Amino acid sequence: MAPTQTHTSNGDRLLELVGHDLTVPLVGGEWVRYANLDNAASAPALKPVADAVDELLPYYGSVHRGAGFASVVSTEAYTRAREVVRGFVGAREDDLVLFTRNTTDAFNLLAGALPAGTTVLTFTGEHHANLLPWRSGDVRHIGIPSSAAEALDALEVALRDLGGKRALVSVTGASNVTGEVWPIAEICRLAHAHGARVALDAAQLAAHRPLDIAGWDVDYVAFSGHKVYAPYGAGVLAGRADWLDAGRPHLAGGGAVRSVTADDVEWTTGPARHEGGTPAALGAFAIAAAVNTLQQTGWEAIVAHELELLEQLLTGLDAIDGVRTYELWERGTCDRVGVVSFNVADLDPALLAAALGAEHGIGVRDGAFCAHPLMDHFAARDRGPRHAVRASIGVGTSAEDIDRLLGAVERIAREGA
Ligand code: PLP
Repeated sequence: MAPTQTHTSNGDRLLELVGHDLTVPLVGGEWVRYANLDNAASAPALKPVADAVDELLPYYGSVHRGAGFASVVSTEAYTRAREVVRGFVGAREDDLVLFTRNTTDAFNLLAGALPAGTTVLTFTGEHHANLLPWRSGDVRHIGIPSSAAEALDALEVALRDLGGKRALVSVTGASNVTGEVWPIAEICRLAHAHGARVALDAAQLAAHRPLDIAGWDVDYVAFSGHKVYAPYGAGVLAGRADWLDAGRPHLAGGGAVRSVTADDVEWTTGPARHEGGTPAALGAFAIAAAVNTLQQTGWEAIVAHELELLEQLLTGLDAIDGVRTYELWERGTCDRVGVVSFNVADLDPALLAAALGAEHGIGVRDGAFCAHPLMDHFAARDRGPRHAVRASIGVGTSAEDIDRLLGAVERIAREGA
């Protein structure tokens, strides 16, 4: 398959954000430019993020615990990072912004802070990070819907069944398997009409669409730094203060308290209640630098670039004999971030992914994507395999990367892995 184009209309400027090309060896010994199509798993840190972290590193000092210059600078950077993230998520004035380890940690924190008697409603097709943390309490699962309208109908039934009991609806913003974007504002309206709150898993959304806590009227948002082009290690939970201020401290220890005696403790409120111990300040700072970069780059350019590449990817995969892509909802009926899971006839997806890596220098993911119930649903619906290959797009993806993937998949489909 001959390359059709090398850049999208916004591509050049966005590709510069990545700042470097990685060259990797193939099995035959040849070295090629790495085509990273695994952004949904972890997106490499952008150059402005690495630069900002580099600039701060010499001032490495204890956060909240020192009076020296480096400590003051580190503490200020950590505090400023929180305010940057507050702006990025569109928080209400009285929302808390907490730094966590990642999205998984954020939901575990929220699960530990739920008032007694709260029922959590989730759809069965969620990422495990939005299924398992709730299981220590009362959780009800809603079946996997075949359209956004069906999702809303099923949610309404579930909410009605609860009869006004205190509830939290926890849903994904964009699926890590299909890229489909869920109707967030409608879910919030519906939940609130029944007196329930909503938590949004924005792990796959935050790097690709603007977040808008106040505009959606969502109660909590969680996302991970390593998926928004910051390094691993830090994440965010933002949302309403009351449950968080009253809930069980997530990390009991220094900094989370007002005072401690030999056998008693008075916990503090605000972010510190859940951020015991020395925080991952560089992680928080990197998230702030990353989301600043996204905002300065502009959502219009990012969304246009990624949608153009998504279209190229879907059209190309559709044209290859034996390729089947995974969608929950009819294509074109919802917004979609650049995530495409697919299989090639009866090829083992693990072998396909390995061949793409070792023979073509293309990074993808394969497996059940920490969404086992969703992949089981697809396997039953389509009488197909439980595993698939996933290609995912980010600001650093070029049209050439997509062409390389399509060319490689076509060749493997023809010749075998
Ligand atoms: N939610 C979704 C939709 C995800 O895709 C992921 C990660 O892949 C997570 C949650 C968990 O993110 P983390 O591993 O950073 O906690």
